[in-house]
Amino acid sequence: MCIQYCSTLDMKHNESKTVAIIGAGASGTACFLQLVHKYIVQRAAQQLRILIFEKRTHFGEGLAFGTGQEGHLLNTKAGLMGIFPHERMHFVQWMHENQDMIARKYPQVSVHPDAYPPRMLFGQYVQEMFAAYCNLAQKQGIIVDLIRAEVVDATLTKDNKLILITDEHQSFKADYCILATGNTASNSFRKLQKQANFFSSPWPSSRLLKKITNKRASVSIVGSSLTAIDALITLIDNGHKGPISFFSLKGLLPRVQSPTEIPYQRKVLTLANVRKHIREKQNPLRLTDLIRMFRSEAESFLEKPLDWVAEEREFRDQLQLLEEDIALATGKQCLLQNILYSLRDETYAIWKLLPDDQKLLFLKWMKPYFDINRHAMPMENGIKIQKVLHAGQLTIIGNTDDIRWKNKRFILTTEDGQVNEADYVINASGPTVVVKEMIDQPLLPQLLKKGYIEEHPVGGIRADLESLRVYHSKRKRLSPFYVIGHQLAGLQLDINALWFNVEQADILTNDLIKNIR
Ligand SMILES: Cc1cc2nc3c(=O)[nH]c(=O)nc-3n(C[C@H](O)[C@H](O)[C@H](O)COP(=O)(O)OP(=O)(O)OC[C@H]3O[C@@H](n4cnc5c(N)ncnc54)[C@H](O)[C@@H]3O)c2cc1C
Repeated sequence: MCIQYCSTLDMKHNESKTVAIIGAGASGTACFLQLVHKYIVQRAAQQLRILIFEKRTHFGEGLAFGTGQEGHLLNTKAGLMGIFPHERMHFVQWMHENQDMIARKYPQVSVHPDAYPPRMLFGQYVQEMFAAYCNLAQKQGIIVDLIRAEVVDATLTKDNKLILITDEHQSFKADYCILATGNTASNSFRKLQKQANFFSSPWPSSRLLKKITNKRASVSIVGSSLTAIDALITLIDNGHKGPISFFSLKGLLPRVQSPTEIPYQRKVLTLANVRKHIREKQNPLRLTDLIRMFRSEAESFLEKPLDWVAEEREFRDQLQLLEEDIALATGKQCLLQNILYSLRDETYAIWKLLPDDQKLLFLKWMKPYFDINRHAMPMENGIKIQKVLHAGQLTIIGNTDDIRWKNKRFILTTEDGQVNEADYVINASGPTVVVKEMIDQPLLPQLLKKGYIEEHPVGGIRADLESLRVYHSKRKRLSPFYVIGHQLAGLQLDINALWFNVEQADILTNDLIKNIR
């Protein structure tokens, strides 16, 4: 289906430049808003046509903010969620302007930069901005075509133009294309894919609710991160009473965020010190250098050595840890989180200084520990989880080994020989970053097969970080593809933060606008 926002249909399309955006989640929308904005401000002479492809029903909310469950809260404080680059408070301003609607529809939401409102409210905000910029584009003579379909293939013509093919076998020509296809499903436990009671992803939530009608059934959720917590909330908010388990490698829960972010002034782990270290040692940065600096940062704050072994959380009572975390967050004393949150605007610069082998080491060894601190859960979710752990409805199983389907039940085994059973399994382990394995996004493996994109050894695809233009070592020409978000997992550690992707949309559209002026 195609909706056209255009007052100038008679314009000669062959004189115009056409930009396709594949994926109208928050990243694709941020690119769209910037493209329209920059086109207008820079008074570009070239006629612009924008094709926006989205396989979901709505444009603007994406997977992240279109889960349809009020209990799925933002995991990032509202004060960071502006959809316009460097206007981080824009969402909060919008909430102020819409206070009456919010009080009516979400009476529990406080309009505040430190609030964690439902993600669907944020989705509504992005959709509104999307619609406003469709109208603005129309007034300025920019043609915007909204195409509700999945792009499954693309071909590069001899004159470096793109032909995009949808699942409905329609084809569209474009000069440039932004890949904003977002989050992928996990690729673990693929052998179970065909079992009726196995969900390869917790999305859409409506599918879980439609299928798991027996509210007393036992459900095992693979993973224990923020996505697993979303799956848990989908179930318990809709009256599930049966036993639920988190079945995960390390069995670690995210920590709990303080109701207000605690300003923290780093003295040791700073970008300046990292660069100084590289300069003085005349050696590339190593992961161990960063770990040492992180530990020294915490100890210099405490003015005493910290018992790092006591800080380890694997194989410990997760309810007890959660209760300690809630107390720490309430008392605003989450030191390790405070350090990592204060690093927000320097993490990417430091990540870029790490050689690929060290990045891979980080992903293998450190990421789970980094994530539980850096992507902590809102207090409200912490309290919800505390309740279900306390009531014995939720158990957390670490050390996962295998899941099999036997006698109409799933048998879940751990490396230390524990055996558990479940009626349903929901795979909420992390999204894959290996392009070949992105089976829920057939376009990307297809582009890889055709040699239009190249895999990055750390994950995702290669791109030039100054422009976000897809990079291919063997091709002699500049690629007409740009990329943003999850597909840059190897190059950009922060792709799972909206504010970061929004700032990348600025970089991307700065380059793109130069090419279409
Ligand atoms: C469940 C969840 C919760 C999150 N919560 C937060 C949060 O609270 N705060 C925060 O800062 N970040 C959060 N994130 C991180 C989030 O990934 C980033 O904020 C990101 O910017 C989301 O936008 P996106 O457009 O990149 O991805 P997505 O939201 O995944 O959107 C991509 C869109 O592309 C469409 N698409 C994909 N392939 C095609 C195709 N071939 N053809 C047509 N359409 C296609 C999809 O249907 C989807 O709508 C969350 C992520 C997830 C998955």
